[in-house]
Amino acid sequence: MTEQAATVLGIDIGGTKMAAALVSADGRILTGDRIMTPPGDADEVFAALAELIERVRGDATPLAVGIGSAGPLDQRHGLVSPVNITGWRNFPLVDRVRALVGDVPVTLGVDGHCFALGEFWTGAGRDVGTLLGIVVSTGVGGGLVVDGKAVIGQSGNAAHIGHVVVDLDGEACACGSFGCVEAYASGPRMVARAKRRGWRTAEDVDAAVLAADAADGDELALAAFDDGAQALAAGIVATAVTVDLTTVVIGGGVAKAGSILFDPVQAWVKRLAQLPFVTDLTVEPAQLDNAGLLGAAHQAWSAVA
Ligand SMILES: [Zn+2]
Repeated sequence: MTEQAATVLGIDIGGTKMAAALVSADGRILTGDRIMTPPGDADEVFAALAELIERVRGDATPLAVGIGSAGPLDQRHGLVSPVNITGWRNFPLVDRVRALVGDVPVTLGVDGHCFALGEFWTGAGRDVGTLLGIVVSTGVGGGLVVDGKAVIGQSGNAAHIGHVVVDLDGEACACGSFGCVEAYASGPRMVARAKRRGWRTAEDVDAAVLAADAADGDELALAAFDDGAQALAAGIVATAVTVDLTTVVIGGGVAKAGSILFDPVQAWVKRLAQLPFVTDLTVEPAQLDNAGLLGAAHQAWSAVA
């Protein structure tokens, strides 16, 4: 009988996909798989996840399980209510997963925190101790790692950078406030902003089309990215001067625009970051396409360390 490598099971729950993997202590994925998140009621969605977990786990006995999930979630009670998984409202995900895997630690964290932890562990932040991770897609989320540890906060929602207010007379935000980073920098809000100024007004288009037009030099598309970039930069610099950090990593669908997003973000950060301890602040693209999954596994390893 061969001895099994020590592993944890990482699970990443999103509105579009669910992924699971056995991950070693040095951050290698030994086996993993993903499925499309199915529609359905609470038990139907969990049945699909359970099948994925069993398939990935095979004969292995992971030491712990780490779950990263789209929010909102109630970390203390292990409940999740992902906005885009309508079948799960206050769903007891931690208890249900524990019932599958046996009596091992099961951790739960917000997907943005797991993204930051994954990039910190084996991605763009692996050589630094403090890192801000930002996910720019239909919303703007994130996570903060300070001195090697994820900043969780009282309710588990720390580093919600999308809702840092950056404009005192700003646009209304979905959260109920106004002038938030997300009100300028999310994909849908950049698209809406460009449309209000006359860009492709009659078409059903998304941020990928906006990015393509910006790359072709369309001034309205470029202006929308510049506004989003300025808002992101203001949120980044506010965070940087608060926690004294040097490295920011941005991922998510809108970050696939590459230099169309990163050039103006970097220019605005350079303009706004003036205190000597933040003038070297770097903003770079995520290196991993599964940072959330690896960050979830990192949480699990922390639970057994
Ligand atoms: Zn907001």
